[in-house]
Parts: sequence; C-alpha cells; structure tokens
Amino acid sequence: MDLTLLKVENRWQKLVEDVVERFLAEGSFSCSCSKCRTDVAAIALNSLPPDYVPVEYAGELAASGEDLLGRLIQAEDAALKALELVNKAPHHSGASQNALINSNEELVRTVLAEVLEHNQEQTWTKPQLSWALAYSLRELAPKYTTTPKGDAYARVEEIHPSSMAAIYVAVHKALKRVQAEFSTR
Ligand SMILES: [Zn+2]
Repeated sequence: MDLTLLKVENRWQKLVEDVVERFLAEGSFSCSCSKCRTDVAAIALNSLPPDYVPVEYAGELAASGEDLLGRLIQAEDAALKALELVNKAPHHSGASQNALINSNEELVRTVLAEVLEHNQEQTWTKPQLSWALAYSLRELAPKYTTTPKGDAYARVEEIHPSSMAAIYVAVHKALKRVQAEFSTR
C-alpha cells in the first residue's frame, strides 16, 4: 500500500486559516505578507491539540453536534496570541506563497511504512491505515513550519533520537487502537 495515498487533515487548520484571514481583513496584522500570515497560522496550530482525521471523515465529525462555538473561540484565542508574537518579531520572506506543513506528518508516514514493512503477516485496509496515521499525529505535539510553496520537501529540523522514539511509540499505539476499534465493528 502506497502510504502517500492516505490523506489526513488536522481539523484545526481550516478554522485557524479562516480566523487568520478575518484578522487580516480587520487590519490586525502589521504586515500582510504571505510569510507573516502563514507564520501566525503555524504558531497558532502548534499551540492547539492536534485533531487529525482521515479527510473523508472531516465533514462527518463537524456535523456531530460538537461545540463549534467553543472551537472557534479556542482558534481565535490561539491566533490572537500568535499574531501578537509575529507583529512584534516578523520574519518576512521574499517568497510570494508559503505553505503550512506539519513536519510530523512526513516522519510518521516514514515510520508507519517501516513498521508495516516489518509486520507483513498482518494486512491493513486503507481506512485502517488512514486512522492509524491520524491517531499517530494526534499523539505528537504539532510541528508546523512555513516553507516557500514549490519546495518539494519541508526543511525538517534535525531529528533528535528521542523524538524519533516518540514517533515509533505513537505509531505502535495508533495501530493497536485501530486494531481494537475495527475488530469490534
Ligand atoms: Zn511580513
């Protein structure tokens, strides 16, 4: 199974991006360059608990009677704090478009692929693996960075062995959880 086919989404991302666009429209930003805008979203997302789901479930959960107003307030609060930081110390860049990337995502995919490679007696379906990816990412503090769009690879900070270990633990835990959940369906 090609793991790049698994698409997951942090449900905070769209919400935070919308809030950032609104703050921008309201003139709260001291600079409106793409880098500053994306930095605010990255800092805000790093301060919120990661809430990953397979993309095909994102809408379903939103309709399940969650406290949407509470979530909006949390997103606004996080974005406001991030905005204060960026307004105080902006890192403008010449790139016209910047992308928001959680560097955990690439690492988790790599580790997941490796774990599956070593456990080939077990077969997994695509929905199972999508959930495993989402659950793994929920276990790890998000590491959003902004990179110029078009860069094939996000510049990932040097990986500390202990953070690599944490990723293995998260992936194993996520696979166990998926196994348990799917066996009772
Ligand atoms: Zn700027």
